Amino acid sequence: KSYQAESKRYDGMSYRRSGKSGVLLPALSVGLWHNFGFVDNLQKGREILRTAFDLGITHFDLANNYGPPYGSAEENFGTIFKNDFKPYRDELFIATKAGYDMWSGPYGNWGSRKYLISSLDQSLKRMGLDYVDVFYHHRLDPDTPLEETMGALADIVRQGKALYVGISNYQPEETQKAAALLKELKVPFILHQARYSMFDRWVEDGLLNTLNDNGVGCIAFSPLAQGLLTDKYINGIPEGSRASKKLTYLDEDTVSNNLDKIQKLNAVAQNRGQKLSEMAIAWILRQPQVASVLVGASSSNQLKENVKALDNLKFSNDELNLIEKIIS
Ligand code: NDP
Repeated sequence: KSYQAESKRYDGMSYRRSGKSGVLLPALSVGLWHNFGFVDNLQKGREILRTAFDLGITHFDLANNYGPPYGSAEENFGTIFKNDFKPYRDELFIATKAGYDMWSGPYGNWGSRKYLISSLDQSLKRMGLDYVDVFYHHRLDPDTPLEETMGALADIVRQGKALYVGISNYQPEETQKAAALLKELKVPFILHQARYSMFDRWVEDGLLNTLNDNGVGCIAFSPLAQGLLTDKYINGIPEGSRASKKLTYLDEDTVSNNLDKIQKLNAVAQNRGQKLSEMAIAWILRQPQVASVLVGASSSNQLKENVKALDNLKFSNDELNLIEKIIS
């Protein structure tokens, strides 16, 4: 069936400025790391993206190697885009990245100009796009001069293949250096994508300040710690859940090691009249430097549930202290 976007799609979502740029991002964005590969059900993925856009989620996050297999999330996205979203291209903010292992040989990984430029060309073909809105270097390459990597990002923008650039998983010191180089090159560096959740707070130790100093926004990935910060694992590991699939570092041990905290946090959330997943998202949005929280979803219902986080973003000092005690 052909897709007609919900006419009231912008009414319920809030939009937050990315650093000091002109870009507003939805408070919640959707990532295609899981659930969009050839191993997954395309119709289900399609439904998730339709639901997202209907909820005012204008930002979709991809990477060259999302799948599995590598490249398949972009290819599936291309199929969905062609069928459903083409008329809405200018209402969408689409991201992709390169920096991790993608193809064999010396040019399919890390941070050379050779890799970044050819990878983005491949990504654009797979997605059927003329340009992406933001292109990220996915992780620091300690062996390639930062000047080369940032120079490649600059040329990508000048070639019209990306409107803005970002970096991901860079530590504060390298982030500062990258920001200085990109400033010199007059390239719009608007986003740093970093893991951030109640279970991983490394960004609070310098990165958010560095971003603030440079007028760069943060987009927080794995805000639910891949599903740990929801009520799904409280009574064991459900069939079909990410922890049951053994695709990532989320496994039985991680679940059992965190169960006590999860139960205590769940009680705090219930007292706020929220689900734990909603509270986990709201807790990240308390940081002004965070432009968007980047969630994953294996169903459109999860996404609908996660957007409800926006109904209660306020925390009392007592609640914050209680959470602090549980997670520190
Ligand atoms: P989350 O922490 O949001 O985890 C998503 C998973 O949590 C879902 O797949 C689902 O798991 C579960 N979940 C989500 N909502 C609910 C809910 N309401 N109730 C119960 N369970 C729920 O984020 P991800 O780890 O998926 O990361 C999000 C995005 O961030 C990625 O898609 C990617 O775009 C980006 N990312 C970037 C990285 C980088 O290096 N730059 C690294 C990792 C991610 P289940 O399948 O079990 O249902």
